[in-house]
Amino acid sequence: MSVWAVLPAAGRGERLHADRPKAFSPLRNRPLLAESLERLEASTWVDSIVVVAPPEWEEPVILLAEELGCGKVVASVAGGESRAASVRIGVGEVPDDAAVILVHDAARPLVSDAVVERLLGALNDGWDGAVPGLALSDTVKRVREEAVVETLPRDELRAVQTPQAFVASVLRAAVADGDEATDCSALVEGQGGRVTIVEGDPRLLKITTADDLALVEFWLGGSEPA
Ligand code: C5P
Repeated sequence: MSVWAVLPAAGRGERLHADRPKAFSPLRNRPLLAESLERLEASTWVDSIVVVAPPEWEEPVILLAEELGCGKVVASVAGGESRAASVRIGVGEVPDDAAVILVHDAARPLVSDAVVERLLGALNDGWDGAVPGLALSDTVKRVREEAVVETLPRDELRAVQTPQAFVASVLRAAVADGDEATDCSALVEGQGGRVTIVEGDPRLLKITTADDLALVEFWLGGSEPA
């Protein structure tokens, strides 16, 4: 069973206020992208990796992969205007004989093999897709303008992360319809695909602000790579 990872890394990262795209913002003195690339390279489950680079950063991505010894990186392609467009471009690089596609945001550096194993286990059980999720500690309310209109049942809610794993043919069909969903699972669900939730990981935090970068550096034990 061949497992391909598509790594959307083409976001601008405006909330980091940096002079470069988010994937190249420094985490422990190297580009943020290095952390997830290295982890997916070391994964026992992932066979090949496609990076969806910020436009004009395709070459630096290849150089970074070479520097890190990431031989699983087979393509670096320029992303699109939205995450959905970038995912569509990345999935287009995956060969037809791939069995599973994992889509993982480069903005979540701390991907672990344990999460990947849970996702692939779910596909093995016959699900079309699997996503990592965390129970919420806050109560969530639906609001319209200034008014609370509904309090949602917290035990039914999950905060969903990446990587997300799909049977390759199912994801291909779902991304082809051009919808602009913020996560791949929504596209698959929208086409009637059966998606399950596996236990997520609080350390799969998505980097949005400089505080997020500082927190991940703290978790990794300081600012210097080991
Ligand atoms: O913007 P946000 O942090 O939600 O993006 C999630 C992931 O999607 C990031 O890894 C980002 O690089 C990627 N992305 C992309 N192309 C875009 C926008 C976001 O690959 N146009």
